Amino acid sequence: MKTLIDKIRNKQLPPIVKKIAKSEGLNPKKLADDIKNGYAVICFNHKHSPNKPCAVGKGLKTKVNVNIGTSPDFSSLKNELKKLDISLKYGADAVMDLSTGGNLRQIRRKIISKCPVSVGTVPIYETAVLNAKKNKKIRDMKIEDIFDAVRRQAEDGVDFMTLHCGLTLETIKRLKNEGRLLNIVSRGGAFLANWMMHNNKENPLYEHYDELLDILRDFDVTISLGDGLRPGCIDDATDRSQIQELIFLGELAQKANKRGIQAIIEGPGHVPLNEIKTNMQIQKKLCNNAPFYVLGPLVTDSALGYDHIAASIGAAIAATYGADFICYLTPAEHLGLPSNEDVKEGLIATRIAAHAADVASGNKKAILRDKMLSQARRKRDFKLQFDLALEPRKAKAKYKELKAKKKDVCSMCSEFCAIKTMEEVLKK
Ligand code: SF4
Repeated sequence: MKTLIDKIRNKQLPPIVKKIAKSEGLNPKKLADDIKNGYAVICFNHKHSPNKPCAVGKGLKTKVNVNIGTSPDFSSLKNELKKLDISLKYGADAVMDLSTGGNLRQIRRKIISKCPVSVGTVPIYETAVLNAKKNKKIRDMKIEDIFDAVRRQAEDGVDFMTLHCGLTLETIKRLKNEGRLLNIVSRGGAFLANWMMHNNKENPLYEHYDELLDILRDFDVTISLGDGLRPGCIDDATDRSQIQELIFLGELAQKANKRGIQAIIEGPGHVPLNEIKTNMQIQKKLCNNAPFYVLGPLVTDSALGYDHIAASIGAAIAATYGADFICYLTPAEHLGLPSNEDVKEGLIATRIAAHAADVASGNKKAILRDKMLSQARRKRDFKLQFDLALEPRKAKAKYKELKAKKKDVCSMCSEFCAIKTMEEVLKK
């Protein structure tokens, strides 16, 4: 089957490209060129055909992903579907199903059937879980089981998949040589490293990359090249193993593009504020400007219970300097499976970071929204301010709860409203 890149290379302008270009205020031919060159992607598997597919990369608004999914301790499908509803209600651009508890295929299919935005997964989780159900250890995973999970998930309609193809024996050697405080914190990365080190074999996703691309091609699944060696603490940030893996990811993205498959590069993790810009520049340089998908990054390890704030600070800086796609973090990060409220709080914080970065990067729509909101603020038109707010519900409730006695001001300064005072004085 022809992929989106194949069609563009054949001088077609696919309707999905026109649709995204229209919604983002871009020239469709320019967007098609950027997709062809690997600078932008549209995560769209025809088996799912999401109504609002997630488009990330050059010139596009910064997008936000929400992770949901069961764990062995909390495996209720009903609860995860509730989180999906919350994610959609509060503006997620993509949702990843990271389930590791319960009937994984049933959960995935249900989430895909109910999700109008792109759905992502990490197929190695399913391989590991099915393996464990047979009372086998991670090191006993069969290579064909890994590839079967990828095909099964593609058939189910997954739009983008995290595959840790750049975690090689070479990168693990770097990790051992340099030494790390938290070694590997990526679940998928740890599964693969465990298998590789026990069997003393190369990562099958790296060694059999062409076969992997064959499967993805059949469904036009976007590959999200996972960073198994993403730093899991400030002390490990920007070390040799992280950068070594990034070099591999850049090569693998180039190979995917040649085969007509869209690719995203995944990035850190935990990065101090002063190293974020450098990380973004290195990624863009080494990966031929492929879209960059970051997890936060967290700018401190010490914000336990408030990691969504620490991550949003990092995300705003990262997206200003080149990150295109942000994976949210919740207040439950490092503590447990997020609750419904955690999903909401994490998503809103990340959307604020994404918007702030779009304003700083010169996105016309984002700048206009801020300007219109300030014009409404100048007129003390609270209704219009709520309409333009990134998340109006809390603002409306607060305004109502703290209502001023006077009309057209808020109770912060009330009769001493600075904006109103200046309006009156300037009129005179
Ligand atoms: S009362 Fe104060 S805070 Fe409220 S709108 Fe006027 S200047 Fe702004």
